[in-house]
Amino acid sequence: MQIKNNKYEAVIGLEVHAQLLTETKAFCGCSTKFGNAPNSNVCPVCLGHPGVLPVLNKKVVEFTVLMGLATNCTINKHSIFARKNYFYPDLPKGYQISQYEEPICENGFINIKTTDGMNKKIRIKRIHMEEDAGKSIHDQSEYTLVDVNRCGVPLIEIVTEPDINSPEEAYQYLTKIKQIVQYLGICDGNMEEGSLRCDANVSVRLKGEKKLGVKTEIKNMNSFRNVERALYYEIERQTDLMEYGEEIIQQTLLWNADLNEAFPMRSKEEAHDYRYFPDPDLLPVIVDEEWKNEIAARMPELPEARFNRFIEQYKLPEYDSEILTQSKELADYYEKVVKLTTDFKAASNWIMTDVLGFLNEKKIEVKQFPVTAENLGKLINLISNGTISSKIAKEVFQIMLETNDEPEKIVKEQNLVQISDEGEIIKIIYNVLEKNKNQIEEFLSGKDKVLGFFVGQVMKETKGKANPQLVNQLLKSELEKYRK
Ligand code: ADP
Ligand code: ZN
Ligand code: MG
Repeated sequence: MQIKNNKYEAVIGLEVHAQLLTETKAFCGCSTKFGNAPNSNVCPVCLGHPGVLPVLNKKVVEFTVLMGLATNCTINKHSIFARKNYFYPDLPKGYQISQYEEPICENGFINIKTTDGMNKKIRIKRIHMEEDAGKSIHDQSEYTLVDVNRCGVPLIEIVTEPDINSPEEAYQYLTKIKQIVQYLGICDGNMEEGSLRCDANVSVRLKGEKKLGVKTEIKNMNSFRNVERALYYEIERQTDLMEYGEEIIQQTLLWNADLNEAFPMRSKEEAHDYRYFPDPDLLPVIVDEEWKNEIAARMPELPEARFNRFIEQYKLPEYDSEILTQSKELADYYEKVVKLTTDFKAASNWIMTDVLGFLNEKKIEVKQFPVTAENLGKLINLISNGTISSKIAKEVFQIMLETNDEPEKIVKEQNLVQISDEGEIIKIIYNVLEKNKNQIEEFLSGKDKVLGFFVGQVMKETKGKANPQLVNQLLKSELEKYRK
Protein backbone atom coordinates (compact mmCIF):
# COMPACT_ATOMS: atom_id res chain seq x y z
CA MET A 1 0.00 0.00 0.00
CA GLN A 2 1.12 3.52 -0.72
CA ILE A 3 0.09 6.69 1.00
CA LYS A 4 -1.84 8.38 -1.77
CA ASN A 5 -0.66 11.95 -1.36
CA ASN A 6 3.12 12.13 -1.41
CA LYS A 7 3.28 15.81 -0.44
CA TYR A 8 2.96 14.58 3.11
CA GLU A 9 4.97 12.51 5.47
CA ALA A 10 3.68 10.38 8.32
CA VAL A 11 5.32 10.57 11.74
CA ILE A 12 4.72 7.67 14.09
CA GLY A 13 5.75 6.87 17.65
CA LEU A 14 4.83 3.55 19.26
CA GLU A 15 4.18 2.66 22.87
CA VAL A 16 4.46 -1.09 23.41
CA HIS A 17 3.41 -2.87 26.58
CA ALA A 18 4.98 -6.25 27.16
CA GLN A 19 3.79 -8.56 29.91
CA LEU A 20 6.74 -10.01 31.76
CA LEU A 21 7.00 -13.76 32.26
CA THR A 22 7.47 -13.70 36.01
CA GLU A 23 5.87 -16.34 38.24
CA THR A 24 4.48 -13.78 40.64
CA LYS A 25 3.13 -10.26 40.34
CA ALA A 26 5.18 -7.07 40.47
CA PHE A 27 4.51 -6.07 44.08
CA CYS A 28 2.99 -9.12 45.81
CA GLY A 29 3.32 -12.90 45.82
CA CYS A 30 0.16 -13.62 43.80
CA SER A 31 0.48 -15.90 40.80
CA THR A 32 0.51 -14.39 37.32
CA LYS A 33 -0.95 -17.56 35.85
CA PHE A 34 -3.38 -16.95 33.03
CA GLY A 35 -6.72 -18.73 32.96
CA ASN A 36 -7.25 -19.26 36.70
CA ALA A 37 -10.77 -18.70 38.07
CA PRO A 38 -11.65 -14.98 37.88
CA ASN A 39 -10.64 -12.95 40.93
CA SER A 40 -8.71 -15.84 42.48
CA ASN A 41 -5.12 -14.59 41.97
CA VAL A 42 -5.53 -11.70 44.35
CA CYS A 43 -4.48 -10.45 47.77
CA PRO A 44 -4.88 -7.25 49.77
CA VAL A 45 -1.76 -5.76 48.12
CA CYS A 46 -2.83 -6.08 44.48
CA LEU A 47 -6.38 -5.12 45.42
CA GLY A 48 -4.97 -1.97 47.01
CA HIS A 49 -6.59 -2.40 50.41
CA PRO A 50 -5.74 0.36 52.86
CA GLY A 51 -2.54 0.02 54.82
CA VAL A 52 -0.85 -2.68 52.73
CA LEU A 53 2.70 -2.29 51.48
CA PRO A 54 3.95 -3.33 48.03
CA VAL A 55 7.29 -5.14 47.73
CA LEU A 56 9.05 -5.02 44.38
CA ASN A 57 9.72 -8.32 42.58
CA LYS A 58 13.45 -8.42 41.78
CA LYS A 59 12.82 -10.37 38.57
CA VAL A 60 10.86 -7.43 37.18
CA VAL A 61 13.91 -5.22 37.43
CA GLU A 62 16.21 -7.86 35.96
CA PHE A 63 13.93 -8.51 32.97
CA THR A 64 13.60 -4.79 32.31
CA VAL A 65 17.34 -4.24 32.48
CA LEU A 66 17.86 -7.15 30.06
CA MET A 67 15.49 -5.48 27.62
CA GLY A 68 17.22 -2.13 28.13
CA LEU A 69 20.61 -3.64 27.41
CA ALA A 70 19.30 -5.53 24.38
CA THR A 71 17.96 -2.27 22.94
CA ASN A 72 21.08 -0.19 23.61
CA CYS A 73 19.55 1.88 26.41
CA THR A 74 21.27 3.64 29.24
CA ILE A 75 20.37 1.86 32.46
CA ASN A 76 19.71 4.50 35.06
CA LYS A 77 21.33 3.72 38.36
CA HIS A 78 18.49 5.46 40.18
CA SER A 79 14.85 5.25 39.14
CA ILE A 80 11.58 5.75 40.96
CA PHE A 81 8.01 4.48 40.91
CA ALA A 82 5.11 6.87 40.56
CA ARG A 83 1.40 6.61 41.05
CA LYS A 84 -0.70 7.27 37.98
CA ASN A 85 -4.12 8.12 39.32
CA TYR A 86 -7.33 7.37 37.49
CA PHE A 87 -10.67 5.78 38.13
CA TYR A 88 -11.71 2.70 36.26
CA PRO A 89 -13.83 -0.29 37.35
CA ASP A 90 -10.94 -2.72 36.69
CA LEU A 91 -8.53 -0.69 38.80
CA PRO A 92 -9.66 -1.13 42.41
CA LYS A 93 -6.67 0.78 43.84
CA GLY A 94 -7.60 3.93 41.94
CA TYR A 95 -4.05 4.27 40.71
CA GLN A 96 -1.51 2.30 38.75
CA ILE A 97 2.08 1.95 39.91
CA SER A 98 4.25 3.08 37.01
CA GLN A 99 7.38 5.08 36.36
CA TYR A 100 7.08 8.63 35.13
CA GLU A 101 10.01 10.88 35.85
CA GLU A 102 13.24 8.89 36.11
CA PRO A 103 12.39 5.64 34.29
CA ILE A 104 14.82 2.73 34.54
CA CYS A 105 15.98 2.72 30.89
CA GLU A 106 16.41 5.60 28.44
CA ASN A 107 17.90 6.60 25.09
CA GLY A 108 18.23 3.30 23.28
CA PHE A 109 17.63 2.22 19.71
CA ILE A 110 17.01 -0.79 17.53
CA ASN A 111 17.62 -1.26 13.82
CA ILE A 112 14.87 -2.24 11.43
CA LYS A 113 14.86 -3.00 7.71
CA THR A 114 12.85 -0.55 5.62
CA THR A 115 10.88 -1.63 2.54
CA ASP A 116 13.80 -0.69 0.28
CA GLY A 117 16.07 -2.99 2.28
CA MET A 118 17.96 -0.24 4.12
CA ASN A 119 18.80 -0.30 7.81
CA LYS A 120 17.03 2.33 9.84
CA LYS A 121 17.61 3.25 13.44
CA ILE A 122 14.50 3.69 15.58
CA ARG A 123 15.34 5.47 18.79
CA ILE A 124 13.82 4.27 22.03
CA LYS A 125 12.99 7.13 24.33
CA ARG A 126 12.39 5.09 27.45
CA ILE A 127 11.49 1.72 28.90
CA HIS A 128 9.75 1.74 32.22
CA MET A 129 8.24 -0.77 34.63
CA GLU A 130 4.59 -0.70 35.62
CA GLU A 131 1.74 -2.91 36.73
CA ASP A 132 -1.23 -4.05 34.69
CA ALA A 133 -4.86 -3.29 35.49
CA GLY A 134 -7.69 -5.84 35.62
CA LYS A 135 -10.07 -6.72 32.85
CA SER A 136 -13.67 -5.74 32.19
CA ILE A 137 -15.63 -8.44 30.43
CA HIS A 138 -18.54 -7.06 28.48
CA ASP A 139 -19.87 -9.99 26.52
CA GLN A 140 -20.67 -12.72 29.09
CA SER A 141 -23.98 -11.54 30.46
CA GLU A 142 -26.17 -8.46 30.50
CA TYR A 143 -23.76 -7.02 33.06
CA THR A 144 -20.18 -6.02 32.69
CA LEU A 145 -18.01 -8.35 34.76
CA VAL A 146 -14.67 -7.48 36.29
CA ASP A 147 -11.76 -9.90 36.69
CA VAL A 148 -8.91 -8.41 38.68
CA ASN A 149 -6.49 -11.35 38.37
CA ARG A 150 -4.35 -9.25 36.05
CA CYS A 151 -4.04 -6.37 38.56
CA GLY A 152 -0.39 -6.08 39.50
CA VAL A 153 0.96 -8.30 36.74
CA PRO A 154 4.28 -6.75 35.66
CA LEU A 155 4.60 -4.91 32.38
CA ILE A 156 7.29 -2.94 30.67
CA GLU A 157 6.37 -0.04 28.45
CA ILE A 158 8.72 0.63 25.56
CA VAL A 159 8.30 4.09 24.03
CA THR A 160 9.93 5.14 20.76
CA GLU A 161 10.90 8.58 19.57
CA PRO A 162 8.73 9.64 16.61
CA ASP A 163 11.18 8.03 14.16
CA ILE A 164 8.82 5.72 12.30
CA ASN A 165 7.52 7.02 8.98
CA SER A 166 5.22 4.38 7.54
CA PRO A 167 2.88 1.58 8.60
CA GLU A 168 5.36 -0.95 7.16
CA GLU A 169 8.13 0.44 9.36
CA ALA A 170 5.80 0.19 12.35
CA TYR A 171 5.19 -3.45 11.46
CA GLN A 172 8.92 -4.09 11.16
CA TYR A 173 9.60 -2.41 14.47
CA LEU A 174 6.96 -4.50 16.25
CA THR A 175 8.27 -7.69 14.70
CA LYS A 176 11.74 -6.83 15.97
CA ILE A 177 10.51 -6.03 19.48
CA LYS A 178 8.58 -9.27 19.62
CA GLN A 179 11.63 -11.15 18.42
CA ILE A 180 13.84 -9.54 21.07
CA VAL A 181 11.51 -10.17 24.03
CA GLN A 182 11.10 -13.77 22.93
CA TYR A 183 14.83 -14.31 22.57
CA LEU A 184 15.32 -12.79 26.01
CA GLY A 185 12.58 -15.03 27.39
CA ILE A 186 10.99 -12.11 29.23
CA CYS A 187 7.61 -12.09 27.42
CA ASP A 188 5.85 -14.60 25.21
CA GLY A 189 5.18 -11.88 22.64
CA ASN A 190 1.66 -12.98 21.88
CA MET A 191 -0.30 -9.96 20.72
CA GLU A 192 -3.57 -11.83 20.18
CA GLU A 193 -3.56 -12.89 23.84
CA GLY A 194 -2.60 -9.43 25.02
CA SER A 195 0.88 -10.17 26.33
CA LEU A 196 2.15 -7.63 23.80
CA ARG A 197 0.05 -4.51 23.25
CA CYS A 198 0.69 -1.49 21.10
CA ASP A 199 -0.64 2.07 21.09
CA ALA A 200 0.25 4.03 17.99
CA ASN A 201 0.75 7.80 17.92
CA VAL A 202 0.55 9.35 14.50
CA SER A 203 0.69 12.75 12.88
CA VAL A 204 1.16 13.99 9.35
CA ARG A 205 3.22 16.92 8.08
CA LEU A 206 4.36 18.43 4.80
CA LYS A 207 7.56 16.81 3.63
CA GLY A 208 10.54 18.90 4.66
CA GLU A 209 8.66 20.44 7.57
CA LYS A 210 10.60 20.10 10.82
CA LYS A 211 7.83 20.80 13.30
CA LEU A 212 5.70 17.87 14.43
CA GLY A 213 2.02 17.95 13.58
CA VAL A 214 -0.87 17.36 15.99
CA LYS A 215 -1.01 13.67 16.79
CA THR A 216 -3.73 11.19 17.53
CA GLU A 217 -3.28 8.00 19.47
CA ILE A 218 -4.82 4.73 18.29
CA LYS A 219 -5.53 1.92 20.69
CA ASN A 220 -7.15 -1.51 20.66
CA MET A 221 -5.23 -3.27 17.92
CA ASN A 222 -4.70 -6.94 18.60
CA SER A 223 -2.32 -7.91 15.84
CA PHE A 224 0.63 -6.38 14.03
CA ARG A 225 -1.42 -6.37 10.83
CA ASN A 226 -4.12 -4.41 12.57
CA VAL A 227 -1.58 -1.83 13.72
CA GLU A 228 -0.51 -1.49 10.10
CA ARG A 229 -4.10 -1.16 8.87
CA ALA A 230 -5.05 1.29 11.58
CA LEU A 231 -2.07 3.47 10.71
CA TYR A 232 -2.99 3.48 7.01
CA TYR A 233 -6.49 4.46 7.90
CA GLU A 234 -5.42 7.27 10.21
CA ILE A 235 -2.71 8.63 7.91
CA GLU A 236 -5.22 8.85 5.06
CA ARG A 237 -7.75 10.56 7.29
CA GLN A 238 -5.24 13.13 8.53
CA THR A 239 -3.87 13.71 5.04
CA ASP A 240 -7.37 14.45 3.76
CA LEU A 241 -7.96 16.90 6.60
CA MET A 242 -4.65 18.64 5.79
CA GLU A 243 -5.59 18.85 2.12
CA TYR A 244 -8.87 20.56 2.93
CA GLY A 245 -7.17 22.84 5.44
CA GLU A 246 -9.16 21.38 8.31
CA GLU A 247 -7.99 21.04 11.87
CA ILE A 248 -6.64 17.80 13.27
CA ILE A 249 -7.84 17.30 16.81
CA GLN A 250 -5.59 15.65 19.36
CA GLN A 251 -7.55 12.65 20.57
CA THR A 252 -7.50 8.97 21.36
CA LEU A 253 -9.07 6.64 18.80
CA LEU A 254 -10.19 3.05 19.13
CA TRP A 255 -9.53 0.73 16.21
CA ASN A 256 -12.43 -1.40 15.05
CA ALA A 257 -10.92 -4.27 13.09
CA ASP A 258 -14.30 -5.50 11.80
CA LEU A 259 -15.22 -2.15 10.32
CA ASN A 260 -11.63 -1.26 9.36
CA GLU A 261 -12.17 2.13 10.94
CA ALA A 262 -11.06 4.05 14.02
CA PHE A 263 -13.51 5.82 16.30
CA PRO A 264 -12.85 8.62 18.78
CA MET A 265 -12.75 7.33 22.36
CA ARG A 266 -11.98 10.48 24.28
CA SER A 267 -10.13 13.71 23.89
CA LYS A 268 -6.54 13.02 24.82
CA GLU A 269 -5.84 13.30 28.52
CA GLU A 270 -2.71 15.15 29.58
CA ALA A 271 -0.11 13.96 32.05
CA HIS A 272 -1.40 16.40 34.64
CA ASP A 273 -4.79 14.69 34.55
CA TYR A 274 -3.17 11.69 36.17
CA ARG A 275 -1.60 13.62 39.03
CA TYR A 276 1.55 11.56 38.89
CA PHE A 277 3.55 11.63 42.11
CA PRO A 278 6.36 9.45 43.51
CA ASP A 279 4.91 6.39 45.22
CA PRO A 280 5.60 6.92 48.92
CA ASP A 281 5.38 3.17 49.59
CA LEU A 282 8.23 2.17 47.30
CA LEU A 283 11.94 2.88 47.60
CA PRO A 284 13.95 4.12 44.63
CA VAL A 285 15.28 1.30 42.46
CA ILE A 286 19.07 1.22 42.51
CA VAL A 287 20.83 -0.74 39.77
CA ASP A 288 24.54 -0.42 40.50
CA GLU A 289 27.34 -1.45 38.14
CA GLU A 290 27.74 -4.81 39.82
CA TRP A 291 24.11 -5.83 39.47
CA LYS A 292 23.96 -4.47 35.94
CA ASN A 293 27.00 -6.54 34.96
CA GLU A 294 25.55 -9.60 36.59
CA ILE A 295 22.39 -9.22 34.52
CA ALA A 296 24.38 -8.47 31.36
CA ALA A 297 26.34 -11.68 31.87
CA ARG A 298 23.08 -13.61 31.54
CA MET A 299 22.24 -12.03 28.18
CA PRO A 300 21.33 -14.78 25.71
CA GLU A 301 22.28 -14.65 22.04
CA LEU A 302 20.17 -11.97 20.35
CA PRO A 303 18.42 -12.27 16.97
CA GLU A 304 20.99 -10.25 15.01
CA ALA A 305 23.90 -12.28 16.38
CA ARG A 306 22.12 -15.52 15.65
CA PHE A 307 21.30 -14.36 12.12
CA ASN A 308 24.99 -13.71 11.48
CA ARG A 309 26.07 -16.94 13.09
CA PHE A 310 23.70 -19.02 10.95
CA ILE A 311 25.25 -17.55 7.80
CA GLU A 312 28.73 -18.13 9.11
CA GLN A 313 28.35 -21.53 10.72
CA TYR A 314 25.88 -23.23 8.40
CA LYS A 315 26.81 -21.36 5.21
CA LEU A 316 23.20 -20.34 4.69
CA PRO A 317 22.06 -17.55 2.39
CA GLU A 318 20.93 -14.37 4.18
CA TYR A 319 17.41 -15.08 3.05
CA ASP A 320 17.33 -18.44 4.83
CA SER A 321 18.98 -17.12 7.96
CA GLU A 322 16.50 -14.28 8.18
CA ILE A 323 13.54 -16.65 8.06
CA LEU A 324 15.03 -19.26 10.37
CA THR A 325 15.98 -16.77 13.08
CA GLN A 326 12.71 -14.87 12.92
CA SER A 327 11.54 -16.68 16.03
CA LYS A 328 13.68 -18.27 18.69
CA GLU A 329 11.62 -21.48 18.59
CA LEU A 330 12.18 -21.91 14.87
CA ALA A 331 15.90 -21.19 15.17
CA ASP A 332 16.13 -23.72 18.02
CA TYR A 333 14.28 -26.26 15.91
CA TYR A 334 16.68 -25.74 13.02
CA GLU A 335 19.70 -26.17 15.25
CA LYS A 336 18.29 -29.42 16.62
CA VAL A 337 17.81 -30.72 13.08
CA VAL A 338 21.37 -29.89 12.05
CA LYS A 339 22.68 -31.69 15.09
CA LEU A 340 21.68 -34.84 13.19
CA THR A 341 22.58 -33.93 9.64
CA THR A 342 25.34 -31.95 7.99
CA ASP A 343 23.06 -31.15 5.08
CA PHE A 344 22.53 -27.61 6.40
CA LYS A 345 20.89 -26.21 3.30
CA ALA A 346 18.53 -29.17 2.90
CA ALA A 347 17.47 -28.76 6.52
CA SER A 348 16.80 -25.10 5.86
CA ASN A 349 14.75 -25.89 2.74
CA TRP A 350 12.63 -28.44 4.58
CA ILE A 351 11.91 -25.99 7.36
CA MET A 352 11.22 -23.01 5.13
CA THR A 353 8.84 -24.87 2.83
CA ASP A 354 7.43 -27.98 4.47
CA VAL A 355 7.51 -27.06 8.15
CA LEU A 356 6.50 -23.42 7.80
CA GLY A 357 3.97 -24.38 5.14
CA PHE A 358 2.28 -26.72 7.59
CA LEU A 359 2.43 -24.19 10.46
CA ASN A 360 0.85 -21.51 8.30
CA GLU A 361 -1.81 -23.81 6.98
CA LYS A 362 -2.80 -25.04 10.44
CA LYS A 363 -2.13 -21.66 12.07
CA ILE A 364 -0.06 -23.26 14.81
CA GLU A 365 3.23 -22.44 16.49
CA VAL A 366 6.55 -24.26 16.22
CA LYS A 367 6.04 -25.78 19.65
CA GLN A 368 2.88 -27.49 18.41
CA PHE A 369 4.55 -28.90 15.31
CA PRO A 370 4.03 -32.70 15.35
CA VAL A 371 7.35 -33.79 13.82
CA THR A 372 10.30 -33.67 16.20
CA ALA A 373 13.52 -32.06 15.01
CA GLU A 374 15.27 -35.41 15.52
CA ASN A 375 12.93 -37.19 13.13
CA LEU A 376 13.23 -34.47 10.50
CA GLY A 377 17.02 -34.71 10.79
CA LYS A 378 16.82 -38.48 10.28
CA LEU A 379 14.57 -38.05 7.27
CA ILE A 380 17.06 -35.68 5.64
CA ASN A 381 19.80 -38.20 6.25
CA LEU A 382 17.78 -40.92 4.54
CA ILE A 383 17.79 -38.75 1.42
CA SER A 384 21.45 -37.83 1.54
CA ASN A 385 22.58 -41.41 2.07
CA GLY A 386 20.46 -42.56 -0.86
CA THR A 387 17.98 -44.70 1.08
CA ILE A 388 15.02 -42.79 -0.31
CA SER A 389 14.51 -40.25 -3.07
CA SER A 390 13.48 -36.73 -2.19
CA LYS A 391 10.12 -37.38 -3.79
CA ILE A 392 9.48 -40.37 -1.53
CA ALA A 393 10.74 -38.29 1.38
CA LYS A 394 7.81 -35.94 0.88
CA GLU A 395 5.46 -38.91 1.24
CA VAL A 396 7.25 -40.10 4.36
CA PHE A 397 7.01 -36.57 5.75
CA GLN A 398 3.24 -36.59 5.24
CA ILE A 399 3.02 -39.80 7.25
CA MET A 400 5.29 -38.35 9.93
CA LEU A 401 2.97 -35.35 10.27
CA GLU A 402 0.24 -37.74 11.28
CA THR A 403 2.11 -40.32 13.29
CA ASN A 404 5.50 -38.76 14.09
CA ASP A 405 6.90 -42.25 13.65
CA GLU A 406 10.60 -42.56 12.99
CA PRO A 407 11.22 -42.16 9.27
CA GLU A 408 13.25 -45.41 9.11
CA LYS A 409 10.27 -47.30 10.49
CA ILE A 410 7.90 -45.75 7.95
CA VAL A 411 10.27 -46.46 5.08
CA LYS A 412 10.61 -50.07 6.15
CA GLU A 413 6.94 -50.69 6.85
CA GLN A 414 5.76 -49.08 3.63
CA ASN A 415 8.60 -50.61 1.66
CA LEU A 416 9.78 -47.30 0.29
CA VAL A 417 13.51 -47.92 0.05
CA GLN A 418 14.96 -46.44 -3.11
CA ILE A 419 15.84 -48.88 -5.87
CA SER A 420 19.45 -48.26 -6.79
CA ASP A 421 20.15 -51.71 -8.15
CA GLU A 422 21.09 -51.28 -11.83
CA GLY A 423 19.99 -54.77 -12.82
CA GLU A 424 16.57 -54.28 -11.30
CA ILE A 425 16.11 -50.90 -12.98
CA ILE A 426 17.31 -52.17 -16.36
CA LYS A 427 14.67 -54.90 -16.24
CA ILE A 428 11.94 -52.34 -15.75
CA ILE A 429 13.41 -50.18 -18.52
CA TYR A 430 13.30 -53.09 -20.96
CA ASN A 431 9.68 -53.60 -20.08
CA VAL A 432 8.79 -49.96 -20.58
CA LEU A 433 10.67 -49.71 -23.89
CA GLU A 434 8.98 -52.86 -25.13
CA LYS A 435 5.54 -51.38 -24.51
CA ASN A 436 6.29 -48.00 -26.08
CA LYS A 437 7.90 -48.60 -29.46
CA ASN A 438 6.38 -45.46 -31.02
CA GLN A 439 7.97 -43.24 -28.42
CA ILE A 440 11.35 -44.81 -29.19
CA GLU A 441 10.94 -43.74 -32.81
CA GLU A 442 10.05 -40.23 -31.67
CA PHE A 443 13.11 -40.09 -29.50
CA LEU A 444 15.35 -41.25 -32.31
CA SER A 445 13.86 -38.61 -34.64
CA GLY A 446 15.15 -35.96 -32.27
CA LYS A 447 12.34 -35.39 -29.78
CA ASP A 448 14.50 -35.27 -26.68
CA LYS A 449 11.68 -34.58 -24.35
CA VAL A 450 10.31 -38.09 -24.86
CA LEU A 451 13.02 -39.08 -22.42
CA GLY A 452 10.92 -37.48 -19.71
CA PHE A 453 8.02 -39.68 -20.70
CA PHE A 454 10.14 -42.80 -20.28
CA VAL A 455 11.49 -41.66 -16.92
CA GLY A 456 7.92 -41.08 -15.81
CA GLN A 457 6.91 -44.59 -16.90
CA VAL A 458 9.78 -46.19 -15.02
CA MET A 459 9.00 -44.18 -11.90
CA LYS A 460 5.37 -45.23 -12.19
CA GLU A 461 6.32 -48.90 -12.44
CA THR A 462 8.46 -48.58 -9.31
CA LYS A 463 5.92 -46.43 -7.43
CA GLY A 464 8.43 -43.60 -7.40
CA LYS A 465 11.10 -45.66 -5.69
CA ALA A 466 13.69 -45.87 -8.46
CA ASN A 467 16.72 -43.68 -8.07
CA PRO A 468 15.90 -40.92 -10.58
CA GLN A 469 19.49 -40.12 -11.57
CA LEU A 470 20.16 -43.74 -12.26
CA VAL A 471 16.95 -44.13 -14.28
CA ASN A 472 17.91 -41.15 -16.39
CA GLN A 473 21.37 -42.37 -17.03
CA LEU A 474 20.39 -45.97 -17.85
CA LEU A 475 17.49 -44.92 -20.06
CA LYS A 476 19.73 -42.66 -22.13
CA SER A 477 22.25 -45.38 -22.76
CA GLU A 478 19.57 -47.97 -23.57
CA LEU A 479 17.87 -45.61 -26.02
CA GLU A 480 21.16 -44.79 -27.69
CA LYS A 481 21.57 -48.47 -28.47
CA TYR A 482 18.55 -48.25 -30.84
CA ARG A 483 20.42 -45.82 -33.08
CA LYS A 484 22.71 -48.55 -34.46
P1 ADP B 1 1.99 11.90 25.42
O1 ADP B 1 2.37 12.87 26.46
O2 ADP B 1 0.84 12.30 24.59
O3 ADP B 1 1.91 10.50 25.93
P2 ADP B 1 4.66 11.48 24.59
O4 ADP B 1 5.55 12.62 24.36
O5 ADP B 1 4.80 10.72 25.86
O6 ADP B 1 3.18 11.94 24.37
O7 ADP B 1 4.85 10.49 23.39
C1 ADP B 1 4.11 9.34 23.25
C2 ADP B 1 4.47 8.71 21.93
O8 ADP B 1 4.03 9.52 20.86
C3 ADP B 1 5.96 8.55 21.71
O9 ADP B 1 6.20 7.32 21.06
C4 ADP B 1 6.34 9.71 20.81
O10 ADP B 1 7.43 9.38 19.99
C5 ADP B 1 5.08 9.86 19.99
N1 ADP B 1 4.85 11.22 19.53
C6 ADP B 1 4.97 12.36 20.24
N2 ADP B 1 4.61 13.43 19.49
C7 ADP B 1 4.25 12.95 18.28
C8 ADP B 1 3.77 13.54 17.06
N3 ADP B 1 3.56 14.85 16.96
N4 ADP B 1 3.49 12.72 16.04
C9 ADP B 1 3.67 11.40 16.13
N5 ADP B 1 4.11 10.79 17.23
C10 ADP B 1 4.39 11.54 18.30
ZN1 ZN C 1 -1.59 -9.95 45.18
MG1 MG D 1 3.22 9.44 27.18
